[in-house]
Amino acid sequence: MNPKCAKCGHPLTNESEIKASDAGPPGNKSDTTTVVCSNCGHLNQVNVGQIRIRSNPRGTGAHYASKITKFGPGHSLCLATLNAAKAQSFESGLGLNDVWHKIRQFCNDNGRRVPTKGGTVGRLSELQGLGLVTSARNEIELTDPETMSFRPSSVNRWFLTEAGIVGAN
Ligand SMILES: [Zn+2]
Repeated sequence: MNPKCAKCGHPLTNESEIKASDAGPPGNKSDTTTVVCSNCGHLNQVNVGQIRIRSNPRGTGAHYASKITKFGPGHSLCLATLNAAKAQSFESGLGLNDVWHKIRQFCNDNGRRVPTKGGTVGRLSELQGLGLVTSARNEIELTDPETMSFRPSSVNRWFLTEAGIVGAN
């Protein structure tokens, strides 16, 4: 996935100067950036349209969510954490590590038992099944605008649906 100069075919690498990048963070709608060829000086419009959000359709969470009869403290902790972080969109969403670290901090501060990370992702999946939380990941992530490096994204971001935002209903 190495872009090349449209004029001379020279690879656009870390030797190339990025003139006017409007390629924002993953998930950003801007999808082109101007890169100056280090060989011939040609201004290349490089398409970074590979950055694309693939949303999971609502309700693709834990398949057993409909069997949840008790809304436990783990569910409340997840919802409270996402609400406190205002994680209401992909852009503001939190990775599992972030969610878990915040929950662990809260539990330590309040003398509560810290749930496992596996338990936390289970509660998030159940909340997703209930339509309160959703998740999405970038298919491809721009890791370094200087070198135009990409990598497959591995981080799923969790955020609230409208139904899960406290005070929205
Ligand atoms: Zn060139």
